[in-house]
Parts: sequence; structure tokens; C-alpha cells
Amino acid sequence: MSKTDIKLKDFLELVRRSRLVERDRLGQILAECKENSSGRLPSAEQMTDILVEYGLLSRWHCDKILEGKYKGFFLGKYKLLEHIGTGGMSSVYLAEHVLMQRRVAIKVLPKKRVGDSSYLARFHLEAKAAAALDHPNIVRAYDIDNEDNTHYLVMEYVEGRDLQTVVKEDGPLDFEQAASYIAQAAEGLEHAHEEGLIHRDIKPANLLVDRKGQIKLLDMGLARFDADDDMSLTIAHSENVLGTADYLAPEQALDSHLVDARADIYSLGCTLYYLLTGHPPFHKGVLAQRIAKHQTTMPPPIPDERPGCPPELAEICFKLVAKKPEDRYQSALEVSEVMQMWLLERGVTSYNPGASGSSLTLPATHLIGTATEDTISNEIGETFKRVDGRTPKHRPTAKPTQNPNPYHESTGDTPIIMEETTSMLNQRRQRKTVGKEPPVWLWLAIAGGMIIVIMLAIFSFLR
Ligand code: ADP
Ligand code: MG
Repeated sequence: MSKTDIKLKDFLELVRRSRLVERDRLGQILAECKENSSGRLPSAEQMTDILVEYGLLSRWHCDKILEGKYKGFFLGKYKLLEHIGTGGMSSVYLAEHVLMQRRVAIKVLPKKRVGDSSYLARFHLEAKAAAALDHPNIVRAYDIDNEDNTHYLVMEYVEGRDLQTVVKEDGPLDFEQAASYIAQAAEGLEHAHEEGLIHRDIKPANLLVDRKGQIKLLDMGLARFDADDDMSLTIAHSENVLGTADYLAPEQALDSHLVDARADIYSLGCTLYYLLTGHPPFHKGVLAQRIAKHQTTMPPPIPDERPGCPPELAEICFKLVAKKPEDRYQSALEVSEVMQMWLLERGVTSYNPGASGSSLTLPATHLIGTATEDTISNEIGETFKRVDGRTPKHRPTAKPTQNPNPYHESTGDTPIIMEETTSMLNQRRQRKTVGKEPPVWLWLAIAGGMIIVIMLAIFSFLR
């Protein structure tokens, strides 16, 4: 049956069967239509427009119903509203809790995969991994359930696009924007690593950016717990190479069970390369050739692929994708710090919208010293030295020039970046000093001791 062939009567019957619109409501709307067009009934297609306008059906519902489908719009307590994505092993839908009307994303494992125990076990592992994490840069998982053979995971719905789609649709990103997304992703990763989880499938399609510009890591389907009770999962299924080839760390391609957090750091580097150039580090050749290149060759220099790329950013990216794990940044925290420092140099002080304390987080080494503009720039230099063994070519000057980038919150002449940084440093130093102060009981004990000594001295003098 083609979409346009369907008769209104059949369409309405399918809508009724779908249970998406209550029978009475449908009758009411039909009566209104008749009244408004002197007794004439709309076509099935016109009726879809009307139902969408009333907010009773989504376009996706209509398309499915016009194809003659009416089953499967409900999963447990949820009504599916739209199909929002398909990944390597699932379909993801926007859905709504029927009673609470809260919007969620529901990831559904295809029925044909349920028989394959490895997929179902991974699906459960993904739920377990996601549930273990609680961070503004990681998509939250609410529930996992099944209706007969349909297994599904209920998650926080992120209204936005994944970074692969963003680059495909809009082209490579602004430098600051790319750095800010990577800094945020690194913060999410740091949390996962702290909880003993390695993501193992970091790539642009698994990084969502919401409307506020906040990054959310998703898809923990390949995650591995460090102290691993589930270690057997991938081994049991003899799956040695996991993750997506174009973003896969060299050591992960050889043995995915033995990788540590630095494999995620490599994949994050490949992701940054993609955001800057519009393609992964090795995008030519067949799969085996691309995997081999990850083992042996450094990618083409970023400024060749993206003219105008700041050399410091290109260097950071290359350090992320160093072949040997020991040559990379050693933790996700270090990655986020170096990105923040680079952003700070460019006048960007806020990079993680919506996260608490989203403004710049300086490393502990920055809490020492006097917060003059001079020392701030020195400290920035120190960080670069500390992290990648070199001093940045241009440090921030005392009075930054006006910054055209949209992240810069400065107005008028005020170099807000320095003001904020100074007050931030002061606050932090204060906090640090407070933390170092001896506790009150110690003061009391010292004072008490002194009083006793004085009294003893007076007493012996009087005798
Ligand atoms: P797979 O495990 O099949 O790769 P993903 O979890 O990566 O599935 O999801 C596939 C796509 O669905 C993502 O690239 C993204 O576009 C979309 N998506 C997934 N989860 C959400 C979510 N919580 N909110 C919004 N979109 C999502
Ligand atoms: Mg995915």
C-alpha cells in the first residue's frame, strides 16, 4: 500500500488500533473537520497534518501508520514519539512516560540480536556501566527493561546532535568550539575512569552536544570495568578488536581486553582530529590499511588538512594520538586541563555550560603565588611546560586584545578573563589557606598549655 493510496477510513482504523489517540478524541476531531469544511471529510494525508497540528501524533507516527503499521508504539510505560538515531547495535527513540509525560530516550536492542547472548549481555553491561556513573557530561541511564523479546534501556534525552552529524552538516568546527567539546568529554571520561570504567568506543557519533553546548558521552556498550567481573564478556566471545576502527588506539586493535584509560585518550584525540579536519586521522584505504596506519604512521599534519589551525592545538591533538600510551597525556584530567589552558589563552573562560563550576578549573599548581596578571600568564606557561614539556609561543598579555570569538564574555574594555581568573585564583587560594589553618582545638590546647606554664611559673616564684 503506498502512502497516498490509503483511505481515510483505513487510516483512522490504524490510528485507533495503535492506541496513540483515544477513540473519543479522534471522533471529536473528525466532527470538527466536517463542520469546518461543509461536511466534507479530509483525505488520509490531510488528516495526518491535522493530528500532528493537534500534537496527537508525530510525523514519524504518521509515516509508520501510512505504511500500514500500528503495533509497537508503546514500550512498557512509554510511548515512542520519534526515531532519533541508529548506532552499531541499536535503534534509539524519543519517548514519553505515559503518565508523567517526561521525555526520555529509549535504546532498543533489535529482536534479531536478542538470540545472540553476547549482544544481550553487552546491553546489560551498558546499563550497568551507565548506572554506575553520575556526571553532567555523561548521559544518565534510568532503567532497563524488556517487553517479551524487546529489550530496552531508558536514558536521559539529550536534545541536540551527535558530533559526527554536526560536522557532516556544518563542516569542521571552530577551534575554540572543538577544544571546548574535547575538554568537556575529557571531564566525563575522567569521571568514568575514576569509577574504574574504560569507555573503549569514544568517537564523534558517541558524543552528543545539547542545545546549551554541553557535551554528553553516550554508548557504554563496550565499556569495561577495571576490576573486572565482566572481563569474561569480551573474552568469552573471542572479540579481540572492539571499538570503531577509525578511532581505535593501536594497543586496542591488538588486544582490547588489556587497554587502560589511555586508549580512550587516543580515541578522544582522533575525535578532535575529526572535529578540526572533517575526517578521521586515516580516512583513505580499506579497513585493514586504516587499522595498520594507526599502528605505524602519524596522521597528516593538521594545518595541512585545516589551514589556519593554531599550532598549539595541533600539537595537543598529536600528543593525544601518540602511538605509545606513555607518550600521550596520562589522564583525562590532564587532557581537560591542557584544553582549558589553551582556551584560556584564547580568552575563553567558560566551556562547560550547565555543569556546576563550569568556569575554568585550574590545576592545583595554580593555587600558589600572587595572582597578578603576570603570574597568571606565567602559570599558564608553567602548565604548558608541565604538561607537554614546552612553553607556549604566545602567553596571554596583561591586556588581551579584543577577542572576536563568541565565547568571550568580556564587554567594553574590561579584560574579563583576567578579572575572573584573578578572583578565581584568589578564591581558590583562600580555600586552600582555610584548609591549611590548624584546627580550633589545637589553638585551644596551645593557649591552655601556655596558661598552665605561666601559672606554674608564678606559683614557683611566689614560693
Ligand atoms: P549504538 O550502541 O547502537 O551505537 P548509541 O547509544 O551510540 O547506539 O546511539 C545511536 C545514536 O542515537 C547516537 O549517535 C545519537 O545520535 C542517538 N542517541 C543515543 N542516545 C541518545 C540520547 N540519550 N539522547 C538523544 N539522542 C541519543
Ligand atoms: Mg554508538
